[in-house]
Order: sequence, then structure tokens, then C-alpha cells
Amino acid sequence: MRDPARFEALLGRLPVMAPWLSVGDPITDVTVMAGLANRRRTLIRDGAPVVRSLVLVGDALLYTNATFVQGIALGAWEAQALARLITDLGVADPHLHGELKRRARRARRRTP
Ligand SMILES: Cc1cc2nc3c(=O)[nH]c(=O)nc-3n(C[C@H](O)[C@H](O)[C@H](O)COP(=O)(O)OP(=O)(O)OC[C@H]3O[C@@H](n4cnc5c(N)ncnc54)[C@H](O)[C@@H]3O)c2cc1C
Repeated sequence: MRDPARFEALLGRLPVMAPWLSVGDPITDVTVMAGLANRRRTLIRDGAPVVRSLVLVGDALLYTNATFVQGIALGAWEAQALARLITDLGVADPHLHGELKRRARRARRRTP
């Protein structure tokens, strides 16, 4: 399926996917499962945020190998945790970032 001609031939036979073939041009090679990687991103560099007023959640924060099928649950959990924290502290609280970091660290320790 890495061969573009075979990949497109297969897509063409899937009624739900076939229409997409005629409306776009590939921008990359065929990427199996969109790349199976575990990747964590941070907006903190050298202890300081590189951008303010932006919080990463979902795949932007933590992209997990799709075969583990946990991406949607993780993203929903992160969004819920962020909403709860903002409700507790208020969006302008100066401790918001530190508390977010503390809770993320605690959650990571609990994750096997
Ligand atoms: C092949 C594959 C299979 C998977 N299977 C599973 C599974 O079975 N179970 C599971 O839990 N997870 C699975 N995942 C992972 C799951 O799809 C992701 O973890 C989840 O979709 C992440 O949600 P998200 O909202 O963070 O990001 P996304 O779903 O990627 O949403 C981001 C959205 O932002 C839009 N966007 C990007 N840039 C901009 C911009 N500049 N302006 C406006 N909009 C923008 C994008 O178009 C997209 O709609 C799979 C992933 C892949 C690739």
C-alpha cells in the first residue's frame, strides 16, 4: 500500500473515499497510518514559555502511536482537565500555568 498507484486504486474502490481522489493532489508520499510515532510537544523552552495564552491539548500536546487507539480519549481527558482547572482557578490566575504543569506531571506519574 506504500505504492501510490496501488493506494489510489484501493481508495478508488471504496465508495466513501473515492470522491476524495478527484478533489486534491497528494502533498506527501503515502504515509502508513499517518506515521506511527509517540511525540510530546511543549511550548516551554529553557524554563520559559515561547508563546503565551496558548495551551496545547490533544495531538498538538501528545501524539501517540495510532495502533494504541488512545488518542481520542487522551485528547478528551486533557480538554476536560483544562476546563476543570480554568473553572477552579479562573483563566487569568497567574498560577494557572504552574498548576497545569503540576497536574500533568502527576498524571504522567500515574500513567504506566
Ligand atoms: C490512522 C489513524 C488511526 C487512528 N485510530 C484511532 C483510534 O482507533 N482510536 C483513537 O482513540 N485514536 C485514533 N487515532 C488518533 C486520533 O485520531 C487523534 O488522537 C485525535 O483525532 C486527535 O484529536 P485532535 O482534536 O487533537 O486533532 P485532530 O483530530 O487532528 O484535529 C485537529 C483539527 O484542526 C484542524 N486544523 C489544523 N490546522 C488548522 C489551522 N491552521 N486552522 C484551522 N484548523 C486547523 C485540522 O484540519 C483538524 O480538523 C488514529 C489516528 C490515525 C492517524
